[in-house]
Amino acid sequence: MLEQKTGNTSWVSGLLEWFQTHRRDLPWRRDFPRDPYKVWVSEIMLQQTKVEAVKPYYDSWMDRFPTLESLAAASEDDVLRQWQGLGYYSRARNLHEAVQEVVASYGGHVPEQKKDVLALKGVGDYTAGAILSIAYGMPEAAVDGNVLRVFARLYNIDGNILSSAVKKQITACVEQCIPRDQAGVFNEALMDFGALVCIPKHPRCGECPLAASCLARKAGREQELPVRITKKKVPVEPVTVVMVEQNRKWLLHRRPPKGLLASMWEFPNAAGSGHEGIQAVQHLLANLGLDIAVDPLPVHTLKHVFSHKIWHMTVYIGHVTDGILTNKEDWQWLPCEDYASVPWAGPHGKLTAL
Ligand code: SF4
Repeated sequence: MLEQKTGNTSWVSGLLEWFQTHRRDLPWRRDFPRDPYKVWVSEIMLQQTKVEAVKPYYDSWMDRFPTLESLAAASEDDVLRQWQGLGYYSRARNLHEAVQEVVASYGGHVPEQKKDVLALKGVGDYTAGAILSIAYGMPEAAVDGNVLRVFARLYNIDGNILSSAVKKQITACVEQCIPRDQAGVFNEALMDFGALVCIPKHPRCGECPLAASCLARKAGREQELPVRITKKKVPVEPVTVVMVEQNRKWLLHRRPPKGLLASMWEFPNAAGSGHEGIQAVQHLLANLGLDIAVDPLPVHTLKHVFSHKIWHMTVYIGHVTDGILTNKEDWQWLPCEDYASVPWAGPHGKLTAL
């Protein structure tokens, strides 16, 4: 049934025509031919982040790392500092590692074989499809949530678009639709169409150039589709943060090199809330040789949402009552004026404003 429905590709020319006049002017689309490094950086930044938020980061990233080689040669601290504020820092780390691999194994040329691109760290099917089609004109699909939504509506597909079976079917359908000589243009047209016309909540069917071909519209189901069934609720974790001051400097900890917000700097903290959380931080610092007193009332609370969990952070001020810092490697005292010199672990960066 789905195969029958998805056999019709007559709307493709209408989409390309629409794109000619409605194409978004985005900083990463400005050169021709397109630079695979720039396509790559923009696609990684755009994961989980809105276009408007990405634009200034992309521009300053390209000022700092204009070429793949300049990024490969940078230190991880530099890369993380440049990424600071975009969140999901593993994207920056993976990109950094992957461009180093491209320099070491491919002489600085982003590979043109799909299997080689997919083998690069942090590059999945969507990003590989975008790089290969936009930079090299190869007929590869780039299927993200946007494209799944548009296709679910165009073809009135009522399966769960988050299931791998439906994703697979839609990907096959996209591949069938790609015009061989305009693969990159087609993929970008779909991105813009999904962002401007066939938008998530209230699709603009009245002004849609593809309305005559849209099966969901014909069936009056455009508001119901796509079907997205998510499985689990994101857990909430309480975190107690104690900002410890001594001689106008603040105590900071560098997170472990692997895992969430790896290698980034944070204020002393521990899981838990209230008295239990404060005691856990005091215990942590006692193991470093520092006894601290903590003010009883919190100075701030903060909620930070990751893709897989939420931190509810309660922030206190602490003062050293005895002892000296014994671990100099992962801990340091830093004056406020030097805050910009370290990459901050997401929400902790916001606390520097206190
Ligand atoms: S008619 Fe509406 S639902 Fe169908 S493709 Fe156009 S905007 Fe999307």
